[in-house]
Amino acid sequence: MLMSLNIVLFLIVYLAVLVGIPVLVGVYVYRDASRRGMNAVLWTLVAVLAPVFVGLIIYLLVRGSYSDLKCPSCAAPVTERYISCPRCGARLKATCPNCAAPVEPDWKVCPHCGDPLPEFGEGFTPPVRRQDKTLWKILLVVILIPVLFILTIFLILGLSTASNSAHGGGVASMPVEEYLSLAEDARIRTWFDSLDKDKKVAYVLRHTEPSGDETQVQYLVYLPEMVDQSEISVRSSSGLFGGDVLDLELPTGGERTGEYLVLATCTGERAAKLGVTSNGVKIPCEITEVDYSVDCWE
Ligand SMILES: [Zn+2]
Ligand SMILES: [Zn+2]
Repeated sequence: MLMSLNIVLFLIVYLAVLVGIPVLVGVYVYRDASRRGMNAVLWTLVAVLAPVFVGLIIYLLVRGSYSDLKCPSCAAPVTERYISCPRCGARLKATCPNCAAPVEPDWKVCPHCGDPLPEFGEGFTPPVRRQDKTLWKILLVVILIPVLFILTIFLILGLSTASNSAHGGGVASMPVEEYLSLAEDARIRTWFDSLDKDKKVAYVLRHTEPSGDETQVQYLVYLPEMVDQSEISVRSSSGLFGGDVLDLELPTGGERTGEYLVLATCTGERAAKLGVTSNGVKIPCEITEVDYSVDCWE
């Protein structure tokens, strides 16, 4: 079930990358090339069909020689050489009075015929450059999609290994007196006697020891309000970023049938953290690290 969902997710992302990016690139190149008076269809085909954006890169290099200037009053496409806007007639440049070549207003001599130029007054509106926001959007998408793609893959891998990396999540419980009589280390009783049983917290002794290549962690848990030892459940999980977690669900709020100590153990690549919930509500834990085993079943 999980595996088939992964494959579907993978295909969706893969198709998005395979189809989405060429479509975006194609739309951009077609519009941009049309605006510049280039052969839009040909360039779109080149940009879309050439692999790994080679076509797009060639297009971006070649198009530099085509004008991306526009008339400041009506936004019609114009080139450096236009004297007037072909659409609205706005004066874009000054001209030489002798040979009519386009000249800049601050030039003193005409570069074409060599005649001295008069002082040009105001009244010229030089062409302005078009803003090229679409390209940035495409680049953003081109960068974002692979990043999302990689993240998705990582998430999928993280999910599928969730049940593997922390294992052996076991739980056992025993009435307190029975446990304390079995426990070899007297420090467990000292710890138990020192607890404030009116506090709404789970008291925990934690012992970690290496077990082969892995780490075994034991949690001895006492929750003062726990009512029944038969309904305790344990679940180990691991997230990509959260690390391994040993989740204990301890029943509270019903008829109290005694006091219990709960031993939860887990072996994994990393020492699992403990999470205690009761009826779905998270209970804070007061954890004491100890250097002796708290497992009296051994
Ligand atoms: Zn114009
Ligand atoms: Zn001239």
